[in-house]
Amino acid sequence: MKAIIVVGDGLADRPLNSLSGKTPLEAAGKENLDTVAREGICGIMDVIGPGRPPGSDAANLALLGYDALECYRGRGALEALGAGIDVRPGDVAFRGNFAYVDEDGVVVDRRAGRVEGSIFTEYLSEVRLESHPEVEVKVLPTLGHRLAVVLRGEGLSWRISDTDPHRDGMRIKKSMPLDSSQESRRTAEIVNELTRLLGEMMSRHPINRERAERGLPPVNAVLLRGAGEPPAVKPLSEAHGVRGACVAVTPTVRGACRAAGFDLYTAPGATGGVDTDAVSKARVAERILPEYDLVYLHVKGADNASHDGDPELKIRVIEKIDAMVGYLLERIDWDETYMAITADHTTSTRAKEHVGDPVPIALKGPEVRVDEVDSFSERSCARGGLGRIRGKELMPIILDLLGKVEIFGS
Ligand code: ZN
Ligand code: ZN
Repeated sequence: MKAIIVVGDGLADRPLNSLSGKTPLEAAGKENLDTVAREGICGIMDVIGPGRPPGSDAANLALLGYDALECYRGRGALEALGAGIDVRPGDVAFRGNFAYVDEDGVVVDRRAGRVEGSIFTEYLSEVRLESHPEVEVKVLPTLGHRLAVVLRGEGLSWRISDTDPHRDGMRIKKSMPLDSSQESRRTAEIVNELTRLLGEMMSRHPINRERAERGLPPVNAVLLRGAGEPPAVKPLSEAHGVRGACVAVTPTVRGACRAAGFDLYTAPGATGGVDTDAVSKARVAERILPEYDLVYLHVKGADNASHDGDPELKIRVIEKIDAMVGYLLERIDWDETYMAITADHTTSTRAKEHVGDPVPIALKGPEVRVDEVDSFSERSCARGGLGRIRGKELMPIILDLLGKVEIFGS
């Protein structure tokens, strides 16, 4: 037996006046999602807990079967893992931007004119802190103006605040400890020294003279955010002997799956945005399924549409996900495969933010107790046979159907 878990990022919503009181899911054309609901068992799911708006990073850990409240250690390391960077337990990793700040340390452009940071890869490959030579520092430009920073050494802590003010026109922040531990105080100090050092190094870089001649802003600062350690989890491969694969573009989702021991895949035309080619992802899932027990298929766009407050766009993304599921319904051997469809959280298109409402879940496959629910939505699934579960409970339910969970007791 095999399973495919389809996760529509921020797919669930609240009823919207502009849709005559329907949610985008209820208003969308989604015959394939409805087929899964009709042929399966449905329910609703509090991904972290009732009334707790989940971040995508914590939510995906929960969907992978982990207790996010226990294992979550910040976003930075998940992103770095997802970008293929080596991050080990005890390391502290950050996401960051190359930026332009003025003489007073005020951020003028958080993205330094969307500079292509890969040109600095070599230049930043040897960064040493004078006061903390024992800490290994890795600075790795990733996509566009973004980078990852990994600190390695004894006694570091991820419980420190960002140096990124998250807005233009504000001063670079000092990183502060978020608890009273010695480790947090020391790590904040290290980050503040690193921020100074990277600012100096970037200011000296010859590219800035050239950029000035071309009328471009200088690249003279690095802003860091989302300090994190790898989540404290045991890979599903070790815990349950599950061979898992992840088809996703979004770095945090890829990072959570990598922490779970999954192999990572992407797909041609998959962008992580509203313009993504979702069917292309389904093709990859179909191709790799024979090699795996479980494929985790994530599609981002619906969440982006909600953050932009655009219900029509959200409906179009839902219809893409429906087409993707339709592709799978036609081609997968359903005597041998389970499929779950759900979301990592509810994103309110009115509030343009994640909210704590539960998400719908539908699960079809050879031996599920099919219920009366015949459509896939926030309200219809609430009447289903799965009832109301927590996010971390979904994976055990699926692994049990795959025969991968041992009997408790004897
Ligand atoms: Zn999300
Ligand atoms: Zn979001």
